[in-house]
Amino acid sequence: MSEDRAQPTAGFAADLLRWFERNGRHDLPWQHPRSAYRVWLSEVMLQQTQVVTVIGYFQRFVQRFPDVCSLAAANLDDVLALWSGLGYYSRARNLHAAARLMVERHGGAVPDNTPDLLALPGIGRSTAAAILAQAFGQRAAILDGNVRRVMARQTGETSWPGLPKVQERLWSFAESLLPHTRLADYTQALMDLGATVCTPRRPDCAACPVQGTCLAHARAQVPLIPASKPQRAVPTRERHWLLLRDEQDRILLERRPPSGIWGGLFALPEADELTVLLDRFGLQPQQLAPLTRIEHRFTHFKLLAQVWSAQLGDHQLLREAPQERWDSIVAARALGLPAPLRRMLAELD
Ligand code: SF4
Repeated sequence: MSEDRAQPTAGFAADLLRWFERNGRHDLPWQHPRSAYRVWLSEVMLQQTQVVTVIGYFQRFVQRFPDVCSLAAANLDDVLALWSGLGYYSRARNLHAAARLMVERHGGAVPDNTPDLLALPGIGRSTAAAILAQAFGQRAAILDGNVRRVMARQTGETSWPGLPKVQERLWSFAESLLPHTRLADYTQALMDLGATVCTPRRPDCAACPVQGTCLAHARAQVPLIPASKPQRAVPTRERHWLLLRDEQDRILLERRPPSGIWGGLFALPEADELTVLLDRFGLQPQQLAPLTRIEHRFTHFKLLAQVWSAQLGDHQLLREAPQERWDSIVAARALGLPAPLRRMLAELD
């Protein structure tokens, strides 16, 4: 989080709640009535699934299983059948198992405290907080994917939010914003803001009620936040490739060994050292011209290839070795080629 995060976040909740009155979602089926069971069910259904999809499933589900006890008494197959099409079926299995534990441990009630909620299958920190805030009006901060994005942008957080230390910063920040009243509305408002205004791509900052406290907006860094997951560092292999043309403007290709990267494909002559290529083809350094640099990522390493071009004179005609062939660039494009070479040749005449 940014060091110079100012203090004006006191107005955040008030601004958001004011916006929520006019622009928030007030007629979601789990809001009427807003029982702990219905909030829990909706939160689980909304994990990885959008509101519009969830609504129909939610309505069918509560019609068949209106409370914790009826869900706990149900056959798992019947629960899974009602879940069918929503995906991520472990959610349904966890829901069923958690309902049975609620009957066993809590007399059929959804617990109203964090430790008991977290002890149930399928309930993580953010889901527990959503239940506590929305069903019981407690001061608990949520941090689902949408809200994490809002918090990262508000704080100008340029590191990847999946890092544990960044997550902790965002949790602390989310907690610092919590109002003292209207926790259910505030939580719904945050979800709505993340889903409808502060969207992953092209957030509508002009319509955002908390633009005034948003550091990403103030610094024109919105497109950079949240940062993507850093790619794992992999070793780099540097190579030299030679695009050798003969007097008929054909290029030399050689088939790569059957095993190893690009096994069996046709590629340009390649070497670790440029001198190896010069010696192999009897070329002088002044005959080479740098053409381009190729960067290609494999799972375990990154290839950096400097491509050189060279033109053979009449007196430099080479015999074709068994694994080699001379082709026009157009004919070469029809061969099995490594993807970066295919792209490179597509740009050459
Ligand atoms: Fe998101 Fe833009 Fe609002 Fe910042 S100003 S919270 S980036 S919508």
